Formats: sequence, C-alpha cells, structure tokens
Amino acid sequence: MAKILLSKENLFHNLNIICNQAGSKDKVAVVLKDNAYGHGLLEIAQLANEFGIKKAVVRTLDEAQIIEDLFDDILILSEKNFDTYSHTFHITLNTLEDIDNIPSYCKVNIKIDTGMHRNGILPEELEEAILGLTKRNIKITGVFTHHRNADTLSTDFFWQNSIFRDVKEDVKSLCEKLSLDIPSFHSCNSSALFRHTNFSDNFARVGIACYGYLENDSTFNLPNLKPVLSLWANRISTRMIKKGQCIGYGATYQAKEDMTVSTYDIGYGNGFLRLNENQKYITPKGYKILGRVSMDSISLNSDDDQVCIFEDVRELAKIQNTISYEITTTLSSNIKRIIK
Ligand SMILES: *Cc1c(COP(=O)(O)O)cnc(C)c1O
Repeated sequence: MAKILLSKENLFHNLNIICNQAGSKDKVAVVLKDNAYGHGLLEIAQLANEFGIKKAVVRTLDEAQIIEDLFDDILILSEKNFDTYSHTFHITLNTLEDIDNIPSYCKVNIKIDTGMHRNGILPEELEEAILGLTKRNIKITGVFTHHRNADTLSTDFFWQNSIFRDVKEDVKSLCEKLSLDIPSFHSCNSSALFRHTNFSDNFARVGIACYGYLENDSTFNLPNLKPVLSLWANRISTRMIKKGQCIGYGATYQAKEDMTVSTYDIGYGNGFLRLNENQKYITPKGYKILGRVSMDSISLNSDDDQVCIFEDVRELAKIQNTISYEITTTLSSNIKRIIK
C-alpha cells in the first residue's frame, strides 16, 4: 500500500522556528483542520503535544473531540452544532444570529470581519455581541480576525491590522465597563506571523508553516522551513513496453523506445490529483509519470519496489496551478501515516 511518511525532525524544526518568531510555545496554536492539512490529525496532534504546544485550531467538533486530551485549548472555527460543551473547547461566533443558539457557560471566541468578508461580525456589532453573550452567561475567551492578503506585498495587511487594533481597544474598554476578563487576541496565520517584527498578539494560529511551507511573495525574508510529509507508492506490476506502444487511458504516452514500465499504487482515488498529457511530473529520483494518472495507479519508468512520489509539494503545486495546501489536503485519510 501507498504510505505517507511524516518527519518528526522536520516538524520540530518548523515548530522551533515558529515558536521563536511568536516568542514562546504558549503563543502558538497549531492549525489541525482538515486532517491536519492532509498530514493526519491525530499523528500531528500527538507530535505537537510532544513538542509542548498547548493550543490547537480545528474546523469541526468531530475533529476537536479526537484530539481533546492532547491540548489545553482547542478553537473550533466553523461548527453549527453547539451542543457539546467541554472546558477545552472554544466555539467561534461567526454571526450575531448564533448568540441565541450557543449554550450558556460555553467558551466563545468572537471572530471579527476586518476586511475578508467571509465569516465574523462587523466591528460595529461588537457591543451587541459582547452584551448578548454576557447576558446568556457565555464566556468570551478570545477575539480574533483573519488576514485576506498577508502573503502578498500589499497594504491590506496593515489596513486590517489597524482595524483590529481599534477592535482590541474597544473590547478592552467594554470589558472593563462590564467587569469581564480581557479575552485573548489573535489575528495571525502563518504568513502574517512572519511579517511581524514585533509580534504582540496573545498567540498566532499557524497552519501551513508547521507543515513546512509558506506561500508568501519571495520579496519577504522567509524562514528555512522543511516539508514534513512525503508520499510513497509501491509497485503493483512491471512490463516491457515496445517502441510505439502506448500507456494508460487515452493512450497519451507513446514509448519512443523499448522500455521498462511499472504501475504504482497511488492515483486520484487517493487524492493524488490527476495529471494529464500537458503536465509533466518527475519524481525526486527522476522517474517520469507516463500518461494520465488513473484512479488507483500511475505508471513510471521504474522497477523499484517503492518510489517516493514527492517529498516537497511545491513543484507539483506549480504543475497543477495550485497551492501547496491543496496538494497535501486532498491526500485521503485512508493512506497510512507513519511517523519517522
Ligand atoms: C486555516 C486558518 C489558519 C491557518 O492558516 P495558514 O495560512 O495555514 O497558517 C488560521 N486562521 C484561520 C481562521 C484559518 O481558517
């Protein structure tokens, strides 16, 4: 079976760089949504715990429950089932409508829309949200926002920061007026964290950088992160192909000479996105994917029993015209994850 190897050494290397940038291990929440960007939710959660990270971010309650014992605080970004209370979980308030649906005594982080216009309440709705939640005995443990453009050289980053700075002041004065504890403030994803020279939020929510990538413009001074995940496939069968014979669906690859070809057990059914005749991908050892990617297999000019398909997804992301996030996140959860 195909497998995913997770490098503990590289993950710890990245977490060290991230924690130094943020100031300490307590100022980093690892983002583990969507099966830890395809790396394996439980595997990465266990490693992050071993490293000493205390906070995690997920998308759903189901994800949070799987890792509940491994963290002190888990922020759940977009769950509409508010029923299961846990002292570890912090539910995101994405809209004023939800104030009445969240059970009393839950912990809530209020998301503020500072310009992304996706989820979150508007800065001018803050007072209504804080009063509404407090009236229902819901504890506000955090106030946060998300950047729409921290990875490119634009002024959006500074514009959103200045809106969030005002939000912080408003929240602080409202909390003082109402004798509430001041909540945690957080605004940075990976790319935003590495744009700060003087990081001053309570913590950062770091996803892609943990896994070894940053999509920032190369004009920024980027840290030396290392990819955590490599994908490996096993040989199913080998045959000799004669000059002129074609391989796979659509007969899109025609052998220019007699050659040895093997199939390997990874395909788009495992989330290895389909490649066609216009996209040429070569493995780290120099083998070519011949013809189209099938659902359950690919063909390579190799007869090795095991082949590394990638150990750094950036080349594949470029060929697929996408971002590193999509290449790793699509890898199915049924591929075995092995920590090395
Ligand atoms: C996914 C996500 C992150 C992590 O972003 P990266 O670019 O992977 O670091 C942080 N915050 C929120 C709200 C997210 O949805």
